[in-house]
Amino acid sequence: MAVHRASSLLDERSLFAEYPFLPGAEALLGELAVSVRALLSDSAFASARSLGRARILAAADDPRGARDLEELARADPSVRLLSFLFARLVLSAAAAPAALRRWAVAEAKRNHARLLAVPVEELVEVARRLGFSLAPGADGVDVPLVDYLRLSVPIREAEFRLPRQALQHGSVAVRPARAARLLQEAVRLRLAEPLPLADDVVREVREREADLLEELARRTPAPVARAELRGGAMRPELFPPCLRKMQRTLQKGENLSHSGRFCLAAFLHRAGADFETIVDAFRGAPDFDEAVTRYQVEHITLHDDGRGYEPPECETLRSHGLCVRDGDPTADDPRDKARDERCFEPSLRHPLQYYRRRGGAVVERDVPDGAAPTSPGGAPDRRGGPEQRRSTGRR
Ligand code: SF4
Repeated sequence: MAVHRASSLLDERSLFAEYPFLPGAEALLGELAVSVRALLSDSAFASARSLGRARILAAADDPRGARDLEELARADPSVRLLSFLFARLVLSAAAAPAALRRWAVAEAKRNHARLLAVPVEELVEVARRLGFSLAPGADGVDVPLVDYLRLSVPIREAEFRLPRQALQHGSVAVRPARAARLLQEAVRLRLAEPLPLADDVVREVREREADLLEELARRTPAPVARAELRGGAMRPELFPPCLRKMQRTLQKGENLSHSGRFCLAAFLHRAGADFETIVDAFRGAPDFDEAVTRYQVEHITLHDDGRGYEPPECETLRSHGLCVRDGDPTADDPRDKARDERCFEPSLRHPLQYYRRRGGAVVERDVPDGAAPTSPGGAPDRRGGPEQRRSTGRR
């Protein structure tokens, strides 16, 4: 078991300085005698603004943090804090949410590195302030089931799935490193929500940071609308509810699970989409990386001499929480909110069956056998391996 350095909890001010995303941290601006207007324009805060802009652009280029920000490590703690608040302010005023979501991924990852090294009490305190009831436990940290589900569902690593967890008295026992990964998700969720800003603040930010926002719009990958995702004879309007939901998730700039990404890429390939169309489908992912996505889509579609991997069948999608045949209450379109009776036909076993029954053309390919698939933006995944693919047969 890892040994954690013993320390008392940080005082309120230090806690906010280390975790500037915690509710109430904005109050530090008052303590530092910095008004929002001064942060935006006063020459005394030029270095904080400069660092804030660097944080924003680095996240736009690479939300997974491969691009180090040396100036951040070198900066004075108060400049670091102000640069964070400046970045959050600017991104909350941006017209499109994509850049804010990429920045949320980057900042959550940066914070994760710290959480891996702190004592359990500090980790639990950060969780509590974010609204999660984690507690020190015999194995490290106990996470109430409801919190575990909320935080683990968007995580793509297979070892976070509930069936693999030790569940006791309504809580999941995890090691501190795993609790830190769950909290990374909590931080991402919090930072992906824009600050509620008054109209005059939004106007001022947009005027003062017009160059930055323009540069950001140029650098941030934009989600591609479903209607534009057409390749060959593909007909997205005939897709089953689960696939439509996966597309909506990415178009909203939200995270899609590992199995969802794999299913979407494999399904689009079988529905006749070309390579570029499949890559475009992932541009809305908050951690989208062009090179990684291209590599992984290539892996999925070129597998077995271009036959590609078989998308998972309905039962598998249900076990991963990806089936929405009962309707999606979060959808805007009433047709997506409603239960789909076609999905309840007893003989329906596969999303491609659904598509074909509605008149969509499925590219016929032999069922492949072989290496494990990867998902775009994700690590290799062995869940949809040869056994599952053999059981699904031709669609
Ligand atoms: S029943 Fe199958 S096709 Fe329909 S939403 Fe669920 S997984 Fe998709």
